[in-house]
Amino acid sequence: GYAFHNSYRIVMIGAGGVGKSSLTVRFVVGRFVEKYDPTIEDAYRIQMSIDGEVANLDIVDTAGPEEYSALRDQYIKLAAGFIVVYSVTSAHSCQAAAKLRDVILKIKGLSVEDGSCYDYPIILVGNKCDLASERTVTFEEGQAIANRCSHFTKNFFEVSARTDTNVSEIFCEMVRQIDTVEWRK
Ligand code: GDP
Ligand code: MG
Repeated sequence: GYAFHNSYRIVMIGAGGVGKSSLTVRFVVGRFVEKYDPTIEDAYRIQMSIDGEVANLDIVDTAGPEEYSALRDQYIKLAAGFIVVYSVTSAHSCQAAAKLRDVILKIKGLSVEDGSCYDYPIILVGNKCDLASERTVTFEEGQAIANRCSHFTKNFFEVSARTDTNVSEIFCEMVRQIDTVEWRK
């Protein structure tokens, strides 16, 4: 991206227990930590080199109730891109992810009707893909939900914070999508 676009505000959002904190810490610290306080909301700043440019990522790891929260709305207003997380072991969390994505689009003033949502940086992520025997959401189901509101080729990833599968990929792709949007301004 451009030098003046080198700051990227990214919000991790999703139901409790899907692995938002685990993914964030896996990416920022490079480790898998077994337990986090599910109520703790934290922000991380990490500098990374991507496509030959330095990018400063401000990552907010949200926590707490799924229902309306003024704080959550504030994060959504300020963010440039969203990583919406569910667990492939929880169909409920997948539905929650789809609903949260709709909340984001609404707050950002984007819609399917006028097509304004399709090139907005929202990446849907199915975490815990290492738990193959506990899977209740298929890859195809996740991809279909992502395709409903995004035309980015890489709008969906299955990942594992535990085995470090596709974790850095989601953050790199997020930066690229934000750049794509900024370019057009
Ligand atoms: P959050 O509430 O969304 O922040 O979820 P956490 O990051 O606190 O994770 C919830 C639980 O899921 C913890 O017990 C984690 O160890 C576990 N967990 C997170 N990511 C993975 C993963 O990729 N694979 C497995 N097997 N467990 C995970
Ligand atoms: Mg957490």
